[in-house]
Amino acid sequence: VPRAHKPLIIRGGRVVDPLSRRDGRADVLLKKGRIAAVAPRLWSSLGVRARNNHRVIDATGCWVTPGLIDMHVHLREPGQSENETIGTGTRAAAHGGITTVLTMANTYPAIDTPDLVREIRKRGRRDGLVNVLVAGAVTRGLRGERLNDLKRLAQAGATAFSDDGRPVMNAELMRRALIAARETGRPVLDHAEDDNLTADGVLNAGPAAKRHRVPGIPWHSEAVMTMRDIALAEAVGAPLHLCHVSCAAAVDMVRQAKARGIAITAEAAPHHFTLIDTDIPHATGCRHCVVADYKMKPPLRARRDREAVIAGLADGTLDAIATDHAPHSPAKKTRALSEAPFGMIGLETALPLTLALVEKGRLTRQQMVERMSAAPARILNLKEKGSLARGADADVTVIDPEARWGLSGHSSSKSRNTPLLGRRLRGWARTTIVGGRPVFNREDA
Ligand SMILES: [Zn+2]
Repeated sequence: VPRAHKPLIIRGGRVVDPLSRRDGRADVLLKKGRIAAVAPRLWSSLGVRARNNHRVIDATGCWVTPGLIDMHVHLREPGQSENETIGTGTRAAAHGGITTVLTMANTYPAIDTPDLVREIRKRGRRDGLVNVLVAGAVTRGLRGERLNDLKRLAQAGATAFSDDGRPVMNAELMRRALIAARETGRPVLDHAEDDNLTADGVLNAGPAAKRHRVPGIPWHSEAVMTMRDIALAEAVGAPLHLCHVSCAAAVDMVRQAKARGIAITAEAAPHHFTLIDTDIPHATGCRHCVVADYKMKPPLRARRDREAVIAGLADGTLDAIATDHAPHSPAKKTRALSEAPFGMIGLETALPLTLALVEKGRLTRQQMVERMSAAPARILNLKEKGSLARGADADVTVIDPEARWGLSGHSSSKSRNTPLLGRRLRGWARTTIVGGRPVFNREDA
């Protein structure tokens, strides 16, 4: 039997699996790409010969969780391999403890045909270190003018539909997209922003935009579109998912909509619950990074917005945590602030930034793991993922919540655009297992 096919036991860790309501010490047995058993003392009950037939990972002092799922990632294929590739992006994911990513369609060309969906899925299987799911574009070329055939995109393997990076400005077109998505049982992932209100905005409308003398992006640019799309979702009974909710008003709208029974879901990005606009350096650059590394969409908001996002995650208004990993080459990010593209990388820092919320008592351990695995699995209809139940896919993350580290200038992603370079972080993935196979081991890194 080839070594890679031996059953694997992860022993001695604290198993945190919200769906099976498990939070305690246990061993996890993986066999043939599936979770075969979770129970205390599985390893110690094996005889010597049986032990020789298993690979073993010692998880003492670590948490053992369902593989983390990031439902909002830009892997930049096809067409922008100077920023990221499926190979480098999924390596960064594995380093970050993430076993499944959904890659967005705002590429060159856009992923807006069944053939391209199939092609990127194929490349994902070939080049990906972790599972790669694909979002198909809602409109042709993400231009917001012609609706794609969402049924055919779904048949080609699109897990969801999104023009992310751009809003669908035409409300009637969005309404028809939601109806078409409903027929496929897959959600529309909504980049809720009003282009006209954002206009040339660069940073959150507030002190940082003033100081840097750039146009602001107002909170109501996000809120207006959130309100519109909740109304459309209510009208057609459609699966709407709101991406990167960043302002207090939008969190309130999602909370009220859910209370009224409207079937919507929402996500928050780690940078929005970590940084605010007053964290943006005054000068053109700090020691480690450039100001444009703080430029993303939606922008870093005000303190009260961050509070609202954290409260929304805690009470379940915001279902999932997703990075919006948006790699850009240094050449682009060192342009003038108003010229640089929007976005920061996030695959390697999502875990420590979320652990910081647990550390501060804002999220429980169970809530954190739920928001990063079970919730995205539920939203994307991934029936075999997001839990350590027997028979589920053997995607597992072994987390050392105490490890102290800092993000240095070299990482597994092809790009370095993050304002967190040099920041002290706590907690990382020690081992990342996909389909029963360890794809990343901190000791080997
Ligand atoms: Zn977006």
